[in-house]
Amino acid sequence: MVKIDNVTVTYRPGSSPALSRLTLDIEGSALILGPSGAGKSTLLRALAGLVRPSQGEIWLDNVPLSRRPLAARRMVAYMPQENWLPREATLEEYLRELALLDGYPPTAVRQAVRDVADLVHLRSALPKRLKWLSGGMKRRALLAQALLRRTPWLVLDEPTLGLDPEEQASVRALVRHLSQHRRVIVATQFVEDASLVPDRVIIFRQGAAVAVTQWETFRKAAEGRVWRVPWTPAAVSDGHQFWAPEAGGKTVLLYAPAAAPEQEPGEPVPSHPEDAYLLFMQEQGGRRHG
Ligand code: ADP
Ligand code: MG
Repeated sequence: MVKIDNVTVTYRPGSSPALSRLTLDIEGSALILGPSGAGKSTLLRALAGLVRPSQGEIWLDNVPLSRRPLAARRMVAYMPQENWLPREATLEEYLRELALLDGYPPTAVRQAVRDVADLVHLRSALPKRLKWLSGGMKRRALLAQALLRRTPWLVLDEPTLGLDPEEQASVRALVRHLSQHRRVIVATQFVEDASLVPDRVIIFRQGAAVAVTQWETFRKAAEGRVWRVPWTPAAVSDGHQFWAPEAGGKTVLLYAPAAAPEQEPGEPVPSHPEDAYLLFMQEQGGRRHG
């Protein structure tokens, strides 16, 4: 279990904390969902031992990270949000080096590197220098280095960021599979990624965990609270409702902020994850459209 107890992380003295007195238990796989700037990457960096809380403690399976900072390296395989890669090395050299550092027997390294490259569909890129890989391939290379490690925890920061739709689908399928067999913590800004670990979705906002829920529960909360109406000034001026324009510009979605009103304001729309998320974040005091 990951136990986060009253943790504060501040990057610069005087600036507001990226994580503010965060207390959270994570048992098994979890998904951390939230807008940009919510503190997701900061939490993952702290789990990987790359940033140090100014207050509080993180326990990884009962190991306190502040007192045993090197333990994080042995316990957490980490995929950063940034494409940190040695530019001149080939993918094969890079993965081989990491496999040796991780303690694979030298005779097993070659096969391990190939297997992990297969998992992320980068087998044919093994001889390429990392600097020549596309953005999506770099993301997959970083995922591969995390998968190579045989740690109790796998921590992935925005594994689908910058991928094309096809790459996204295959990385999602892979991460979904992994999250059922290993303990995986995934951070994402994309609602579509919530299905990766649907049973434990932790919603982040402004350095705090504002909800810990199951995706289905969360989605259901939006049912019966979304309508489509033609986009007219009158439709979007009602002070009680949130709204968002739809593609095409002719219609808007109206979101009931609390219980459904007596009279339906428009055509009811089936509740989608995106709606549930938008409604939830707006209730949390997020920015209102219009
Ligand atoms: P998220 O991953 O949810 O987008 P981050 O953890 O990256 O959130 O950022 C949380 C806050 O910390 C933001 O206000 C961001 O500007 C700040 N921050 C993140 N990384 C750094 C850094 N390396 N130096 C200074 N400020 C940072
Ligand atoms: Mg981030």
